[in-house]
Amino acid sequence: MEHKINAYNNILELIGDTPLVKLNRIAASLTGNFYAKVEAFNPGHSSKDRIAAYIIEEAERTGILAEGSTIVETTSGNTGFSIAMVSIIKGYECILAVSSKSSKDKIDMLRSMGAKVYVCPAHVSADDPRSYYEVAKRLHSEVKGSVYINQYFNKLNIEAHYKSTGPEIWKQTNGNITHLVACSGTGGTISGTGRYLKEKNPNIKIIGVDAFGSVLKKFHETREFDNDEIYPYRIEGLGKNLIPAATDFDVIDKFIKVTDEESAHTARELCKSEGLFVGYTSGAVTQALKQLDAAGEFTKDSNVVAIFPDHGSRYMSKIYSDQWMNDQGFFDSKNVVEAEKIQV
Ligand code: PMP
Repeated sequence: MEHKINAYNNILELIGDTPLVKLNRIAASLTGNFYAKVEAFNPGHSSKDRIAAYIIEEAERTGILAEGSTIVETTSGNTGFSIAMVSIIKGYECILAVSSKSSKDKIDMLRSMGAKVYVCPAHVSADDPRSYYEVAKRLHSEVKGSVYINQYFNKLNIEAHYKSTGPEIWKQTNGNITHLVACSGTGGTISGTGRYLKEKNPNIKIIGVDAFGSVLKKFHETREFDNDEIYPYRIEGLGKNLIPAATDFDVIDKFIKVTDEESAHTARELCKSEGLFVGYTSGAVTQALKQLDAAGEFTKDSNVVAIFPDHGSRYMSKIYSDQWMNDQGFFDSKNVVEAEKIQV
């Protein structure tokens, strides 16, 4: 006798349809209504599941990928994990060229997800044949029928969010969203989601979050590349030292910059005030909400959606480590409450 079992066929069916969660305590002193789109509910715990699945399925549709094909990318971060996960389920080989700066934990995690990881020297220039960009390009050209995801320059990155994140938010807010606030790295999330929402209602404001040390905000304002904007910073996944083709700058109304320190504290505050254990850039986008509120951006009728890109578990040795916070000098600031300081 056949039993009816309510089960997903595999974890890829769980990608997308992430929840919108009201921010209560952390937003209590702000004007307006604030909601987080919590992308950690994706099976790979980040928004990158969407682009990995979409780009790979597009390559299948167009006949580029066949059984046993290889997928190549250059990241040790969320995208690498998502591509490895999709590759396992679909039976592709996954090769990730990563920088030697990547933590051992990250490399172990990718290998445990079946990826073949090439660790490339971090201190060489991007056009050096040993750099992870060049290694990925070479592997892509050598492996017949392989697909190079190239998330910073792949327009399908925008399309993935245009077709999923945008419509989800429109439906979840019944069209009552007034502002979208999202961190910009490749720019795929804000561009695709923002483009969809603006098509539905051009009055919706699309606000990008950038890092101090990144060139995106200045480029948006001047359309010129200013090298002086670029210097090292700690937040991963936010901002960039080049202009990604996966960013549609015309969709974005403005950018706001946030600091490493305030973003880290705000992520920790999200855990403690909302019970949301989320990543560094979720802290960054919430920090941006506070700054936008202080600048008078919102009214009491504003319905603001902020994208929370990933889960906190990937930052245990960074923002959720008191030692790391202390090493960065993030506990030195006067506005950190005494209780959060540690004894060293
Ligand atoms: N936050 C995190 C943690 C990320 O990994 C990324 C992707 N680089 C982003 C935010 C930004 O998303 P996008 O690349 O779509 O702009």
